[in-house]
Amino acid sequence: MPETTSAPRAQDEVAELLSDLIRIDTTNTGDTATSAGERRAAEWVAGKLDEVGIDSQILESERGRASLVARVPGADRSRPALLVHGHLDVVPADPAEWSVHPFSGEERDGYVWGRGAVDMKDMDAMVLALVREWARTGVRPPRDVVLAFVADEEAGGKLGARWLVDEQPDLFEGCTEAISEVGGFSITVRDDLRLYLVQTAEKGLAWMRLTATGRPGHGSFVHDDNAVTRLCQAVARIGSTRLPTVLTPPMRRFLAAVEEAYGIEIDPDSPEEAFARLGSISRMIGAALRNTANPTMLEAGYKANVIPGTASATVDGRFLHGQQEEFERQLASLVGEGVQREWIVHDQAVETTFDGPLVEQMVAALKAEDDGARPVPFTMSGGTDAKSFERLGMRCFGFSPLRLPADLDFASLFHGIDERVPVESLRFGVRVLDRFLRAV
Ligand SMILES: [Zn+2]
Repeated sequence: MPETTSAPRAQDEVAELLSDLIRIDTTNTGDTATSAGERRAAEWVAGKLDEVGIDSQILESERGRASLVARVPGADRSRPALLVHGHLDVVPADPAEWSVHPFSGEERDGYVWGRGAVDMKDMDAMVLALVREWARTGVRPPRDVVLAFVADEEAGGKLGARWLVDEQPDLFEGCTEAISEVGGFSITVRDDLRLYLVQTAEKGLAWMRLTATGRPGHGSFVHDDNAVTRLCQAVARIGSTRLPTVLTPPMRRFLAAVEEAYGIEIDPDSPEEAFARLGSISRMIGAALRNTANPTMLEAGYKANVIPGTASATVDGRFLHGQQEEFERQLASLVGEGVQREWIVHDQAVETTFDGPLVEQMVAALKAEDDGARPVPFTMSGGTDAKSFERLGMRCFGFSPLRLPADLDFASLFHGIDERVPVESLRFGVRVLDRFLRAV
């Protein structure tokens, strides 16, 4: 279809692009046989890029598990490239729980509604809208911008980002820095002051299975070697112990920024009261002050009067950057004797510094669009595809800029019911990304 001068500007088409993308159901169940939409979404993105003359490649790790990569050539091709990545998959959503159908992409009350609206088809749509406008109007970024729209983030990225990094690293040739999700959003302190949380670190992931063994036997006898009892003691110790506070560099700066913004002092050992001012995001932020381990699954026995020989539990462990060995020591002492521990999923923590030209341009772009903006670094308690791209030596940032209404409970929208994003926030994000990507 020929483009005309009346083609919509990025800000004017971003909401529609997001709606269209939400309508492509890319639910990631963790099982390839039932994860259908990624290929269609990747083809849809390819079509949107092709309309404006941007070539892209679709790559499949397994049948249907499609990711798309494109390179927008920069003015100075000798400079290192910047990766902008976003995942196309989403977590499941049950329509019965929602006010609108989660895959309707409906625009209502100034919001685009649907699964993926904040995690993270919003960023996908903002980037797509922007590069489409650039292509139509002949804008070249200062250096190469590599775009990656990937599969499988919600199941750990093994069939998306991790696969691309392992199998197709040449696609990211020259990329030294990357931006993506969970960062760049605002928390309103007061009318003229908003903190923008830029993610510079992610905790590491250590999901483990604990297995206790004991002597099987009859449930009616005296029995002093019960696997269930032993397991439960270990699980209770893990679940009820709060590990010590560790202030990593990003969180030290984050705490200082919160103290300054609110004129308060925060005791890092019990930050809950102070953090309550930040709203629901405090649950995520609070978890970045220490290693954590939460028991999540239990399995033992098959009959009321049979003591089983083994019992097992699953624990979701997360450790801060530089804390992996300490975390293992902490766990060993909590698990205790007679219980084996094995990793089910283990992945590194990542951390970079909040400085340098890239960060300066993030700050400048946010301030240019919001004169009450105060950008601050923070550590994310969860994991993203940054863990994969960091393996190629990139500095990774969570920077998907959104200026949010003061009363929006943003944190609860991630994987939540009635996930939605304000259209004004999307337009703001496009403007910030435009400034940022033209300047770096
Ligand atoms: Zn996400």
